[in-house]
Amino acid sequence: MRTRAAVVYGLNQRFEVKEVELADPADTEVLVHLVASGVCHSDYHHITGDQIARLPMIFGHEGAGVVERVGSKVTHVKPGDHVVMSYLPSCGTCRWCTAGQTNLCDLGAHTVTGPQLDGTYRFRDDDGVELGQFCLVSTFSEWTVVPGQSVVKVQPHHRLERACLVACGVTTGVGTAIYRGGVRPGEDVMVFGVGGIGMNIVQGARIAGARRIIACDVEDWKLDKAKGFGATHTVNPKERDPVEYAMELTWGVGVDRAYEAIASPETIGQAVRALRKGGTAAVVGLTRHDQPDIPVNPSDFVLWQKTLTGSLNGGCNPRNDIPAMLAMWESGLLDLDGLVTREYRLEQINEAYEDLLAGRNIRGVIRYEWADGGVPA
Ligand SMILES: [Zn+2]
Ligand SMILES: [Zn+2]
Repeated sequence: MRTRAAVVYGLNQRFEVKEVELADPADTEVLVHLVASGVCHSDYHHITGDQIARLPMIFGHEGAGVVERVGSKVTHVKPGDHVVMSYLPSCGTCRWCTAGQTNLCDLGAHTVTGPQLDGTYRFRDDDGVELGQFCLVSTFSEWTVVPGQSVVKVQPHHRLERACLVACGVTTGVGTAIYRGGVRPGEDVMVFGVGGIGMNIVQGARIAGARRIIACDVEDWKLDKAKGFGATHTVNPKERDPVEYAMELTWGVGVDRAYEAIASPETIGQAVRALRKGGTAAVVGLTRHDQPDIPVNPSDFVLWQKTLTGSLNGGCNPRNDIPAMLAMWESGLLDLDGLVTREYRLEQINEAYEDLLAGRNIRGVIRYEWADGGVPA
């Protein structure tokens, strides 16, 4: 079938929005009609070469849509079901899946290589060039074919143009605070970078019962917005040293938890330095694959017994946590609408990334207009 998709052919090239050919789903796969896709920074890291991916590729990994057709071996969803994509497939049988760490599933190794799990491609352009699928999903396309393991069925009343955010930004941020980061009631938390991930760490920390939540960002408007998501204090590093600020606020003790959602060596170092004795810092954002030195003092880990760890998709199990977080949205515990600063059509995808890089968005969302006008409300 034909579909419009945003293709990136080479490193640092722009998205080309064009019609391409999409093959039928194999036995274990699902054809999905996309309703919306969030615009996440992680795609961009693979376009610049910060992270390695095989190009050309159709990017997008934060999608939601409606199942159109399923392969003969797919039993957990059927045509008409509303689904949120999981950018990490889970096989259910590897060591990590069986231990409950589905975010670490061995199938994750296939997410940047291009073809589907059987090694063949579903997308090709009119010159016959095979187009890879980012995270096996490619949500910057009106239609896509994905592994059955990559779709999570959700309740039909959830608005998919917001539910898509739970595929990555919300699970990663909220999961980091409440699962991986383990915020406990009464703790002091610091979040470096309050964009699409950091803002969700802030609301996760609020839900977990943090006492003080310090948001740190160079954009004052994002700091203002963070207050609406639960930040009790804000600091702009252009105006004052964030570690000094955290120490002053906590009478020289330091914060219990610090989260780094910018992925710069400097702020990772600051997150560790802002910790109290025995505190934990977690890196959430993607850095360069060959990222050199992080400025941390190893003595901090011994004499102050600090921990520096990482968080992939917030330690979430998508099959459990995507529906759970949508239920939290429904009950008002989570704010998804407030995360979206602008909506775009697929043709505007280059503009969407320009806005992201310029710090103008918390989250941008690509909305697909269905030809028959049948987009679910
Ligand atoms: Zn993402
Ligand atoms: Zn697995």
